[in-house]
Amino acid sequence: ISPSTRAEVIVVGGGIGGLSAALALTRQGLRVRVHEQASVFGEVGAGLQLAPNCTRILDRYGLLEEATDLGVLPEGMVMKDAVDARDLTRLDLRDLERRYGYPYLVIHRSDLHRILLRACERAGVELLTDACCVSYENVDGGARVRFADGGVDEAEAVIAADGLRSVARELLVRDEPVSSAYVAYRGAVPFEKVVGNGIHDRDVVVYVGPRCHFVQYPLRGGEMFNQVAVFESPKALAGEDDWGTPDELDEAFAGTCDQVRNGLPLMWRDRWWRMYDRDPIMTWVAGRIALLGDAAHPPLQYMAQGAVMAIEDGWVLGEHVAAQRARRTGGGSGVDWDAAFAAYEAVRPEHCRRVVTTARAWGELWHLEGLRRLQRNALLRGRDVYDYSFVDWIYGPTALTSEEEPEMFRPIPLDTALHAQR
Ligand code: FAD
Repeated sequence: ISPSTRAEVIVVGGGIGGLSAALALTRQGLRVRVHEQASVFGEVGAGLQLAPNCTRILDRYGLLEEATDLGVLPEGMVMKDAVDARDLTRLDLRDLERRYGYPYLVIHRSDLHRILLRACERAGVELLTDACCVSYENVDGGARVRFADGGVDEAEAVIAADGLRSVARELLVRDEPVSSAYVAYRGAVPFEKVVGNGIHDRDVVVYVGPRCHFVQYPLRGGEMFNQVAVFESPKALAGEDDWGTPDELDEAFAGTCDQVRNGLPLMWRDRWWRMYDRDPIMTWVAGRIALLGDAAHPPLQYMAQGAVMAIEDGWVLGEHVAAQRARRTGGGSGVDWDAAFAAYEAVRPEHCRRVVTTARAWGELWHLEGLRRLQRNALLRGRDVYDYSFVDWIYGPTALTSEEEPEMFRPIPLDTALHAQR
């Protein structure tokens, strides 16, 4: 890698987080170069849910219409019990759109990734592949990255959007991904394959069950149907290396309702995703190097906010860069990077910490069994469908400062809540 001109910002990682950050910074007039380790830009996996706090940002980028055309705006989000298939609670997504001003959208991951990639190309982002970054260092007036092939690149600032197993994170903390012992199977299939399976064709549905859950929603204007099956792996709990295999999938859902079991043969059985997160960290910046997306805050997926938080990170950084920018000087961008990174770090880690820890607790609630499952069901059935106090702090406008961050719904510790039901 021997880029001929110096970029003002280097982004490492061309996933949803890296591309959206590159777009946000290019929109502020900066010269941005993305280095992606893979030989092509792309995304694996199936559907992605994008809550209003994300569609609001896509709208600012002028990308919401394209995303809406390729995705689906579901009518409701329904939570059901995976054993008896009874409704537990729901969100009315039309009302939710009125409340937050932006829709709840579901979209194929590769479609969202392609939308961002095209937007980057149009904006003039330099997009390089086959660039595996192996180390980062701060240098005078900027930061330097080194690649596996011996190449180096330097810029005023480096954004590390290199995902769950981030190399850059090692600059800030010596930690490891935390295994949840849960594993996800995915499958996006033509809609015809699920007709007659007892599906909801206009809703996002999550069936929550003992140590497992199952998610379903339509994709690509209703032509496709997305399913995700998640369960706790007994082999993972036993410390075996070969965990999450298809035999465990069938076993985990044996006691669930027909609507769930009908979906299992349609899951992709040749690959699965083991679920990891990391403990939250509150320092994301080392000099001119800043973490973004899963590199900073990989969550368990129960809040469907991982990609959303990554997109929010880029937006917030872009806004602070704009606020901390003087006129270009002597070939430099004119950005006061210390101030911009400090403002970014003053707001994003706390928000993402809340999401990561809430996702853990939310997952525990989904997976209860026995008496506690019945108690949870009673609590959820008692919830007013139009009570948004659980989600206002997430779905409202992305805060640029900690003062703008809404008061979080204060969850009652689960044990207290369950005790109150006895
Ligand atoms: P990644 O997608 O991991 O991208 C990192 C990129 O960096 C990759 O392209 C990688 O190749 C590259 N890279 C890595 N190391 C290097 C290196 N050393 N040098 C150069 N390049 C490198 N989120 C939602 O918002 N809504 C959902 O509904 C949702 N559902 C989910 C369901 C499941 C089952 C799972 C597993 C996750 C879900 N998520 C969801 C989370 C979401 O997928 C992630 O949080 C998001 O994709 C993270 O994006 P990222 O760009 O930060 O990281």
